Amino acid sequence: MGAQQVAERFAELYGAGPEGVWAAPGRVNLIGEHTDYNDGFVMPFALPHQAVAAVSRRDDGVLRLHSEDVEGGVVELRLDALAPQTDREWTAYPAGVVWALREAGHEVTGADVHLSSTVPTGAGLSSSAALEVVIALALNDLYDLGLQRWKLARLCQRAENVYVGAPTGIMDQTASACCEQGHALFLDTRDLSQQQIPFDLVAEGLRLLVVDTRVKHAHSGGEYGKRRAGCEKGAALLGVDALRDIPYDGLDAALARLGDEEEVIRLVRHVVTEDERVERTVALLRAGDTRAIGPVLTEGHASLRDDFRISCPELDLVVDTALAAGALGARMTGGGFGGSAIVLAEAADVDTLTKAVEEAFAAADFKTPRVFEAVPSAGARRLS
Ligand code: ADP
Ligand code: MG
Repeated sequence: MGAQQVAERFAELYGAGPEGVWAAPGRVNLIGEHTDYNDGFVMPFALPHQAVAAVSRRDDGVLRLHSEDVEGGVVELRLDALAPQTDREWTAYPAGVVWALREAGHEVTGADVHLSSTVPTGAGLSSSAALEVVIALALNDLYDLGLQRWKLARLCQRAENVYVGAPTGIMDQTASACCEQGHALFLDTRDLSQQQIPFDLVAEGLRLLVVDTRVKHAHSGGEYGKRRAGCEKGAALLGVDALRDIPYDGLDAALARLGDEEEVIRLVRHVVTEDERVERTVALLRAGDTRAIGPVLTEGHASLRDDFRISCPELDLVVDTALAAGALGARMTGGGFGGSAIVLAEAADVDTLTKAVEEAFAAADFKTPRVFEAVPSAGARRLS
């Protein structure tokens, strides 16, 4: 939905136009999965799908929230009553951002918000980060807080971890806040240093398809926690702060030291090889060899499926079908157990590939997948 439409609806709801309109995108992670809580590397890019929010300040300690995409009217909250994990509704995301800003000592005295988002929810494309970042950026501008993008991302992560109660890493919020059009973001989650890596698919005659399996990652929370705890156990057993500290060329030696801890061995192997795959992808893109990243993506999928064990039949079917139909590479993306897969392909093969995946899903009696092209797009910004 465009800025003007969102502003008009804001005026209908609150009786006057907004002070401004902001946008923040969802993201796809090109490579670097489950590395972000191991102090490792990730490489997301922003989607054209985004959350758009019209916002005005208030000075009476009240936060009013409305989403075009959720049934129900305006929700009114008192800022001094905001408390972590007291809200199970969608409003916890924007309220959590306000809470995190205030808790960090920033003076936010209230806001009226109306938003609308084109980021599919629960598809592994980070609709939640889009929602958080659009609110954070709007308040940063309106209240003249002067916070840098990476800092806004940190506060949004805190909102999601502490206020909403979802244990996520820093990638999603940083991607939404910091990505640039035509680029992927090479992010070191240890020190948050970042580099924009040119990733202009169209110029090279390539396309990246996102296949949303429409399987929701409903039970993924507990599994995510288990993987995370397993990685921490691996780091502790190996005497390092985080698995990031195990060098790729020291992997075999490290695994040997883990003895018969089979599950930990698999998790450690995924994380260490995945960091190496991110570095390899960066090097290939820098060298202009975009097609060569295909097999790296596919290797990443095998590692997530066999070692990290977070794939599912639908995601595996996308990858196997796409590769058999001529894709350059494919892998699941996001937290796992559903959500989306990405497929790198020659532009000329897109229709054949899409059809092959749809037919395979129909034959397996799976839900009809949603397939779209992802163009690396702009990060969060003010629209008006
Ligand atoms: P993901 O981030 O992968 O899409 P999450 O479970 O982390 O999935 O976040 C989805 C949640 O974010 C939704 O259940 C809802 O609470 C909130 N959300 C996302 N987009 C919107 C929106 N447009 N309006 C209201 N709430 C939204
Ligand atoms: Mg999310």
